[in-house]
Amino acid sequence: MRETTPDRSPADARSDHGPDEGAQVIVVGAGPAGSAAAFHLARAGVDVLLLEKSHFPREKVCGDGLTPRAVHQLIRMGVDIKAPGWTRSRGMRWVAGDHQVHIDWPALGRYPDFGLSRSRHDFDDILARHAVAAGARLRSGVKVTEPLTDRAGRITGVTATTAEKEPLTFHAPIVIAADGASARLALAMGLQRDRNRQIATAARRYYRSPERSREEYLELWADLRFPGSDHFLPGYGWIFPMGDGRVNVGLGALPHRRHGKADLRATLDGWLARTPEAWGLREENAEGPVRSAALPLGFNRHPLYTRGLLLVGDSGGMISPWNGEGIGQAMEAGEVAAETAALALALPRGPRREQVLRGYPVEMNRRWGRYYRLGNTAADLVFSRSGFQPVLNRYVMGSPFLLNTLARLLTNLTDKPSHDLIDHLLNGVVRLVPEPKVRRRR
Ligand SMILES: Cc1cc2nc3c(=O)[nH]c(=O)nc-3n(C[C@H](O)[C@H](O)[C@H](O)COP(=O)(O)OP(=O)(O)OC[C@H]3O[C@@H](n4cnc5c(N)ncnc54)[C@H](O)[C@@H]3O)c2cc1C
Repeated sequence: MRETTPDRSPADARSDHGPDEGAQVIVVGAGPAGSAAAFHLARAGVDVLLLEKSHFPREKVCGDGLTPRAVHQLIRMGVDIKAPGWTRSRGMRWVAGDHQVHIDWPALGRYPDFGLSRSRHDFDDILARHAVAAGARLRSGVKVTEPLTDRAGRITGVTATTAEKEPLTFHAPIVIAADGASARLALAMGLQRDRNRQIATAARRYYRSPERSREEYLELWADLRFPGSDHFLPGYGWIFPMGDGRVNVGLGALPHRRHGKADLRATLDGWLARTPEAWGLREENAEGPVRSAALPLGFNRHPLYTRGLLLVGDSGGMISPWNGEGIGQAMEAGEVAAETAALALALPRGPRREQVLRGYPVEMNRRWGRYYRLGNTAADLVFSRSGFQPVLNRYVMGSPFLLNTLARLLTNLTDKPSHDLIDHLLNGVVRLVPEPKVRRRR
C-alpha cells in the first residue's frame, strides 16, 4: 500500500488525465461485478474509470450458466438478450441415481421465467462494452498493483502497470474492488477472508456435443462420487448447453469433512466415462484443457466497505453457498455499490458521505445476510459431508411440490412480498434466521 499526500477532489481528479489519471470512481476488474458497477455509475452521470488487466474478449473459467436472477440483472442493464448467441433454458434437469426430474423456472412477478447460458468469452466482453456505451472509460491491459492511501489510511486511488511495465497512477475518492476471487485490492487494504468459511473449487471443460448443445434444461448431476470410493462428492456436476454445438461440462465441490479436497479431474473423468457415447463427452471432442478455479462463498470477506473501498462480487466472497452461482450476485452487488457511490458523491466529503458509504454492507446484508447464513450452515452440515444426496432423496424427487421448493431455495427465487405457498414457506424460514451483524472497521 502506498501513501499519498493531499486528498484530491473529484474535480481535480477529472481534470488530470495522462499518466496520472483520475475519475470520481475507479472500478478495478471488468468481470460481471465491475462492468455492472461501471455501467450503473455511468448511467447515474458519474465519471467512472474501469481498469482491467486483460484484453477482451478473454477466457474466464466458469460454468456459463445464468439463472433467472442473473437474467433479471441483464434486463435491468438493458443488455440485448434477444440478440444471437444467447441460449435460453426452461429450467433444470436434476439427475440422481436412477432418477431424473425436470423443474421449470418458476413464473414469478419479479424474475423472468427463463435462464440463459453464454460463454464468458463473449459475456464479459458484451458487459464491458455495454458499460463503455453508457459512458464508462475502460482501460484494458492495465493491472492494478496497489492501493494509494492518504495519511488516515483512506484509499485515494491505485497504482497499476501495463503489459510493457509502464507504471501508472489513478486517483479517485471512491474505489470499487471487483478483481475477483484473488481479492488482491481488499487484501492490500487489510481485509482478510474469514478462515472459518470454506472455499469451494470447480473445474470445467468444453466439449463438442451437437446432441446436447441445444438442450432446453441446465443439467445437474447430484450422484457423483469420489474416485474409487462409495462416498458422495460434496458438490455436483453440470452439463450446460452453449447452443453453438458445444456444452460446458464441469463440477464443483466443497472440501469434504473427512476426505478433504476432491480430485476434480479424476472425478470428472470417472463421471464422463459413464455418460452415453452419443453425447460425445470424450477426450477427442474436448476443446481446451480442464481448467479450475476457487469459489469464495457466503460473504467470506468483511467488512464489504472500508475507508473509501467497496467490495463487489467474488472479491467480497459473494458466491451463493447454496449452489455456487456468482454471476448474478456480482451484477446485483455492482448495482448496489454504484447506487451507493453515486449517492455518496452527491454529498460533500466528510461524515455524511461516509455514512452513505457505510450503508453498502448494510444493504447487502439486508438482501442476502440471512439467506447466506442459512446456506453456510447447510454447506457445513450437509453439502460438505454428503453433497446433495440427503436433500435429493427419492421422497423429494417424487414430489413436485418439494422439488420446486428445493429448487427455489437453492436458486433464491421467491417473490417478496410472498405470492404463493412456496414464497411463504421460504421467506418465512429465512426470516427466522438471526440477521448476521454487519462488521465495521474504522
Ligand atoms: C469453474 C467455475 C464455474 C462457475 N460456474 C458458474 C455458473 O455457471 N454460473 C454462475 O453464476 N457463476 C459461476 N461461477 C462463479 C462465477 O464465475 C463468479 O462468481 C463470477 O465470475 C464473479 O464475477 P466477478 O466480476 O466478481 O469476478 P471475475 O469474473 O473473476 O472478474 C474479475 C475481473 O478482474 C480482473 N482483475 C483481476 N485482478 C486485476 C487487477 N489486479 N487489475 C485489473 N484487473 C484485474 C480480472 O481479469 C477479471 O476480468 C463459476 C466459477 C467457477 C470457478
